Amino acid sequence: MIKRIWEYLTNNARWMGGCLAMLAVGWALSPAAQPVWWFRQAEPEATPAPEPAPISDILLSDGTPADPATRAILLATPIYQPTADGPLTGHTIAIDPGHGGYDGGARAANRGLWEKVYNLQIALTLKDLLTANGATVVMTRDTDAALNDPNPPGRKKRQDMERRAERVLTHGAEMLLSIHQNDYRIASQHGPQVFYRKDCPAGRELATLLQTNLNESLYPGSRRRANVGDFYINSLGIPSALVECGFLSNAAEEKKLRDPEYQRQIADALVKSVAEWFAMEKLPEAAAREVR
Ligand SMILES: [Zn+2]
Repeated sequence: MIKRIWEYLTNNARWMGGCLAMLAVGWALSPAAQPVWWFRQAEPEATPAPEPAPISDILLSDGTPADPATRAILLATPIYQPTADGPLTGHTIAIDPGHGGYDGGARAANRGLWEKVYNLQIALTLKDLLTANGATVVMTRDTDAALNDPNPPGRKKRQDMERRAERVLTHGAEMLLSIHQNDYRIASQHGPQVFYRKDCPAGRELATLLQTNLNESLYPGSRRRANVGDFYINSLGIPSALVECGFLSNAAEEKKLRDPEYQRQIADALVKSVAEWFAMEKLPEAAAREVR
């Protein structure tokens, strides 16, 4: 028996040796064998990848981390530093030029110019005057752009407004002025109209000053009073007002609203009001509410 096994092995030795040799070559070429090759040792060690940056070093106003797109928007917030000392030194004020980008707002009947253009021009003039009076200014936009992604999960307007709110709140604004132009089916309607949030004493106080100073400067003798208006931008938990500077539906007023001198007159009245408001005893502000 032993003899027959011995004969079998010796008769097939060459064939079995060939098989073993092929297996060994196959293993040596396989990825599993690579680390044990002596010349692999000589290769320089790869430098370890740097620690990934934290997903967000900016927190939203509710304390949660901003998603990457919102974080980029917040990092790019236009913030203007004071250009001189003045009555507003130490204060941070937000300006929200209404609409922008795809959202033109109202449209001037006679000229076809969109509201967003007047809003931005007046807001930029206001920014210059506020910084010249010592304020730091946070703008929700300083170009013709809304802040939403091209295809947001929900409504474009909602994402735009949420990001405007975050620009205002994340950068510590104490007060917000939203700049708009009015539009009405009766063309004779004219003059500034200021809105504040219902049940908000601080906003009412601010809006009253704004309306009074705008009346005095633009339409002396006008007795128009600030009104309650349901605007999301007025409900961020900081004193705020929405200023409709005039009516684009009124041809004579639209012409004035395009004039840089008149825009400057509006901005002057707003700055005067802001300075008066900061000098007053503060009334309480209603808490923030969610965008709807
Ligand atoms: Zn508007």
